[in-house]
Amino acid sequence: MLNHTKQYINGEWVDSTGSDTIEVINPATEEVVGKISSGTKEDVNRAVQAAKEAFPSFSKMSVDDRIKLLEAIAEEYENRKDDLVKIMTAELGAPITKSEEIHFKMGLTHFKEAAEQLKTFKFTEKREKSYIQKEPIGVAGLITPWNFPTNQLSTKLASALAAGCTMVVKPASQTPFAAVILAEILDKAGVPKGVFNLVNGSGSTVGEAISTHPDVDIVSFTGSGEVGSGLMKNAAEDIKNISLELGGKSPFVILKDADVKEAAKAALGQIAMNTGQVCSAATRMIVPEEMHDEFIEAMKELVTEFPVGDPQDKNTFMGPQVSKDQWETVQSYIKRGEEEGATIAIGGPGRPDGINKGFFSQITVFTNVKNDMTIAQEEIFGPVMSVIKYKDLDEAIDIANDTIYGLAGYVFGNDKEDLKKVAFSIRAGQIRINDSETDRSAPFGGFKQSGIGREWGDYGIEEFLEPKAIMGMPF
Ligand code: NAP
Repeated sequence: MLNHTKQYINGEWVDSTGSDTIEVINPATEEVVGKISSGTKEDVNRAVQAAKEAFPSFSKMSVDDRIKLLEAIAEEYENRKDDLVKIMTAELGAPITKSEEIHFKMGLTHFKEAAEQLKTFKFTEKREKSYIQKEPIGVAGLITPWNFPTNQLSTKLASALAAGCTMVVKPASQTPFAAVILAEILDKAGVPKGVFNLVNGSGSTVGEAISTHPDVDIVSFTGSGEVGSGLMKNAAEDIKNISLELGGKSPFVILKDADVKEAAKAALGQIAMNTGQVCSAATRMIVPEEMHDEFIEAMKELVTEFPVGDPQDKNTFMGPQVSKDQWETVQSYIKRGEEEGATIAIGGPGRPDGINKGFFSQITVFTNVKNDMTIAQEEIFGPVMSVIKYKDLDEAIDIANDTIYGLAGYVFGNDKEDLKKVAFSIRAGQIRINDSETDRSAPFGGFKQSGIGREWGDYGIEEFLEPKAIMGMPF
């Protein structure tokens, strides 16, 4: 069992001022993985003070030195691959192959990408009548969710370090150990003391203390809309900068000329990946009415290619939900879908056959879904798909945009004009045409209630900078 009850403050692992702890549960076995400190407001105060004191010097570190620092972090991150892969399987329930191929690699790309971006990033601009300088905002409060333990943190960390900010980090209490390893990585890579501080604990205490602290200049949050809205209200008190990466209910528009089997496979991958606990996952499949039955049949045949079960088994594609609460939420939505008149075509309530322990859901596909049903409007954060029919492309686009969210959108098919029409018409921050590769240098973030601000690449760095205009510069 892992016991990690210290906080990382001012370059050292120190005791919390409190003695309470939080247990971390393995969602596949329901056994205790370990415990962390349930940090206090005083811990946050000490961490913010350390970040504040480190800021004047770190904000002046040369760009070349910041590049070297990010490269050193990336190298040390790779050295800790085995530890990171194992812990994300234990605390999140990520299948061991996904832990390595998806979680570990995603976390790494942000450090490498930020170092690359810094090589060409323009911190200054000379205009005819002014000189613009982009300066780090100050102390950043970084609050992250559990669904991608290293990725969510490293995208914020890499951008904040690249910009020259110092920071206090609070990871999700369900998956804190990956963040502890990240702290060890940053320490080993030579991040100066006070620049990075980690305070484990609950959102209501540690998260709240970060978001209300007068010396925190920006809160960068990834998580639910409900908590994000509260943080925005807190930020309003002392006009803090805020960046919010929130939920989604992304549409997947299948064109009439799409290959049905390929589309069905891509659709299943969307809801099964990370057990549907992906903010940008496509969960509303918008399908031509004449293709509907064939699409459902194709998914019934293909669903066996997404085995659910033991995360330690290399053949497993989908592990458990992260927690009992999350499992119950998913189950309640499946019940709600049936009550509102949708039909279960694949899966359904309860655990998959043969699994009697752990927070496992079934890959569940609903047909006869109307876009105004709860299962088509609310984010479920589980492996649950709504299939909705359309007559023509304009109707498909209307359905796609009939949501409070706008994080991502997907279009699948061949006709170039139709692909472009859908891509340009969906109101969302990131669009994928067919199964295109992810570009981590491109901005990631949401329209509408999916958030404010952007992460990844140069846009991610911009979030942590303030432009200063100097007039009358004696060049
Ligand atoms: P959450 O409940 O909002 O928690 C996110 C983080 O906020 C956790 O560290 C949590 O701490 C902390 N927190 C909770 N209450 C707080 C408060 N009052 N003040 C400050 N911090 C507080 O979200 P979640 O359930 O972990 O994650 C799922 C949600 O995140 C989904 O809605 C999903 O769509 C969204 N998400 C968005 C993106 C994106 O990039 N747009 C990516 C991934 C996930 P505790 O863990 O201690 O509760």
